[in-house]
Amino acid sequence: MVEEIRIGDVIQTRKKHPCGSDQWTVIRTGADIKIRCSGCDHIVMMDRDAFLKRRKKTLSQGPEPEPVDMSRYLP
Ligand SMILES: [Zn+2]
Repeated sequence: MVEEIRIGDVIQTRKKHPCGSDQWTVIRTGADIKIRCSGCDHIVMMDRDAFLKRRKKTLSQGPEPEPVDMSRYLP
């Protein structure tokens, strides 16, 4: 089970959305997670714990986040 949450993850929820889809795309991560329904483009925001409870599995994982290039902060 992948515990990591990345933008672009396609996840399956335990419960289906009223539109009939159980697939959602993660569009924002952080303290709050925002996901968009694949069936009807409905957007839901929830905290991390609620997200992990709802998520059944990750169907495909988003791209690895860009590492922060520290050199650009140096003179
Ligand atoms: Zn929906």
